[in-house]
Amino acid sequence: MVRRHVRVLVLLLLAAFGAWLVLVQRSQKQQRQREYGEGLTDQDYAGLRAATTLDGFRDNLALIDPHGALHPYLRLHDDGAELQEAPGGEALAAVSWSLASPVNGAPRVEQLRDLRVLIDPGHFGGQWSEIEKRHIVVGERPPVREGNLTWATARLMEEELRASGAKPVVSRPPPPQSPFPEPPPRFSDDQELLAWLRAHLARQPLTSWLSDNPVQLRLLHDAYREPPEEETPAVRAFFTLFNRFDLRRRSQLAEEIGADITLSIHYNVARDPEVNKVLAFVPGGVLAEEMESGPERYWAFKRAIGDELPTLIELAGAISSAMQEELGVSGKSNEPIRRPPRKTPVDEDNGVFARNLAVLKRTPGLVLLLEGPCMNNPEEHQRLLDDSVQIDGEGHPERARQYARAAVRGLKEKAALIWDYRARHRPESQPTE
Ligand SMILES: [Zn+2]
Repeated sequence: MVRRHVRVLVLLLLAAFGAWLVLVQRSQKQQRQREYGEGLTDQDYAGLRAATTLDGFRDNLALIDPHGALHPYLRLHDDGAELQEAPGGEALAAVSWSLASPVNGAPRVEQLRDLRVLIDPGHFGGQWSEIEKRHIVVGERPPVREGNLTWATARLMEEELRASGAKPVVSRPPPPQSPFPEPPPRFSDDQELLAWLRAHLARQPLTSWLSDNPVQLRLLHDAYREPPEEETPAVRAFFTLFNRFDLRRRSQLAEEIGADITLSIHYNVARDPEVNKVLAFVPGGVLAEEMESGPERYWAFKRAIGDELPTLIELAGAISSAMQEELGVSGKSNEPIRRPPRKTPVDEDNGVFARNLAVLKRTPGLVLLLEGPCMNNPEEHQRLLDDSVQIDGEGHPERARQYARAAVRGLKEKAALIWDYRARHRPESQPTE
């Protein structure tokens, strides 16, 4: 009698375990099917929260979606907004309007002390400067490498920020000394290739894509395992994938360290070498063809329901002005705007534009991308070859110091705005007096 009960109990337990296993596997499968590409899942859509009103949303959208390409995917009403999978289709995300609430009586802080600043030196430089096409040669002179300049600028900014009591973090190591650095543990070329394919196939049918890219696919693995000495299609393919991975890593870092603001540091290349100018980019300016991909629409919607753009526009103006003064280079360009334009004017005469660049798109919260003077302008190129500033035993140009000083000055002038943003979004972390 007792034995039969035990047997029934064991059978029931086994059946329950089996049912549980089936359920777990099914939900894992559903989870995989729900991946929208480049790591976006249902949770990302479900986690979206508005920090603005309908009017704020409309203002943001004018800058983020200047071509109105997101509009067919939106349903707006007095209480909130929906992002639809297809025009008139199922809602992927629904948010209710709500202003991010500032802490009552929060002190207005006008200093950088305790602010976490992520400094992102654009590109890699060093042995990678040619493959990444940031290797500027003018006449018989040695090359100027953007990734080396941005690295020097970031290190000098780090020094200045630390002296002001801020907590800077630099997003990448020094320029690589060999053609291929050790890939970091989280990098998987297979995964990157799949993600890259998904993003491209969202816009282009497989057959036409394959006819454009057969060499990359075939040679990718060989290149990864046995890096050749010179630039081949395989090396370019590896670089494309690694770069995509690293841009996402840099944006995620801002979240991991709880950055109050991220500044991505770049130097410019003008189409006309006679031109020299500086620029500051805020997120936005999504091109109509970019809006054809689901992940792009997610990022655009996420930015439009946020409250960071007004703050970013003021910050960009202050930093651009400081850069123009310190570097003696205008923010206004005489160059004709490229057709179709890749950037949307915000304050054109002051060099402030919106542009849909990877770091600006993905980095949460406050983020700006700065473009220093034009490396291909012959006089600027000469100045950038100067090596009078020593960092870790290597010479860098005085221009990097001027750039760093300007960026920190702009941040200092607008520190109160950064603190206000932090008070609205992280009220638990108020400054220590
Ligand atoms: Zn750049």
